[in-house]
Order: sequence, then C-alpha cells, then structure tokens
Amino acid sequence: MLQADQVVPTTCPYCGVGCQIDLHIKDGMIFRVNGRFDNHVNHGNLCVKGRFGYDYVHAPDRLRQPLIRANRSDELAPTDWDIALNTVANRLRHARDTYGPDSIAILTSAKCTNEENYLLQKLTRAILGTNSVDHCARL
Ligand code: SF4
Repeated sequence: MLQADQVVPTTCPYCGVGCQIDLHIKDGMIFRVNGRFDNHVNHGNLCVKGRFGYDYVHAPDRLRQPLIRANRSDELAPTDWDIALNTVANRLRHARDTYGPDSIAILTSAKCTNEENYLLQKLTRAILGTNSVDHCARL
C-alpha cells in the first residue's frame, strides 16, 4: 500500500460545512483524502466532492495568479493581486457612480466560509448600496 510522505490536516475547500480532512501526500501529490474523526463537524464522514474532488489541485491549467483584461481587449494577461483588486474596486466604483447601485449584482460562493459570505453581503448592501446579492447554492 502506498505510504504518505506527509499527512496534512486541513479543511475541505468545497463548501461552508467545513468538514475536517487529512490530505495524504506522496512526492508532492495528493493521492488520498480521508475525513477526520476528531471533530464535531463531520465525524470522519465526507461527501463525494470532499473525498474525491482533488484533481484540480494538480491541474496544469489551474489559475495560479490573477488575470486582467487590459484595455478591455479579449486578451487576459497575468497581474499581481494589488493591481487586480484595485482594478475591481475602481470598476465597481465607476459602475455604481455612473449607472447607479442597482447596475451591480454580487454572486457569492458556497466555497466561501459563512464569515466571508457575511462580509460580501455587507459590502454589497452597505458599500455598493444594492440588495442584489445572491449565492450559488440557490442556483
Ligand atoms: S466534504 Fe462535502 S459537505 Fe463536507 S465540507 Fe466538503 S463539500 Fe462540504
């Protein structure tokens, strides 16, 4: 049986339930995931996504840095996080100020924690000024 070089305890990245998992790693590759029994979230259980959905970690086409569409062209170019976040903030501000708050809608993610989703609805309602906020789990 394949023996792990390293077993890394972490939290499943797929949804806000936050199941606790161990990643079994050999030669830098995840080859097995198991649910941890030492917690009150999942008691060792995992759904199919949490148990088997890790091929994206090693996918060659995985995004590893932000991309930006410079000058509104079709070409995406790599950039750093400061530029990417400033660009998003400036474009949201421009849309709100030019077209009104209801020109913007925010779609949050089941991969975010409850706290992150709370912050996104606060940003949407209190900063952007619209109630157009939804969550992908309702689709
Ligand atoms: S194992 Fe399934 S239920 Fe648990 S956090 Fe991951 S996706 Fe959510």
